[in-house]
Amino acid sequence: MACIFCKIAAGEIIANIVYQDGNVVAFRDTNPQAPVHILVIPREHIPSLTELQPSQSPLMGELVETAVMLAEREGVDQSGYRLVLNAGKDAGQAVEHIHLHLVGGRAMQWPPG
Ligand code: AMP
Repeated sequence: MACIFCKIAAGEIIANIVYQDGNVVAFRDTNPQAPVHILVIPREHIPSLTELQPSQSPLMGELVETAVMLAEREGVDQSGYRLVLNAGKDAGQAVEHIHLHLVGGRAMQWPPG
């Protein structure tokens, strides 16, 4: 199993896990871009949004629901936060296992860089 996020989900690599259930794992990003920066991933290995199958759409809903719950738990639901899914080279996707970034705790710019 080569994928680093699969290894985190399997407990083979240590991460600062803040939530997990049967389908989803959430852990703090090791290179945080804001006071709150959490990655929410499916346990299932899906390399990118470009390879997402229609049957996996409910799983994406679970990622969003988890991020919304964690935003509240982290205390950024009132101040605001951003959910980001990078797909492919131009977006700067570095890890080929779908991950939803939850970023909050500071004011952000738009458009993103
Ligand atoms: P992306 O550019 O959307 O692919 O984001 C990948 C993210 O994964 C980056 O923000 C990295 O800092 C983060 N990352 C990479 N390896 C780890 C790790 N072992 N634990 C936590 N975060 C990681």
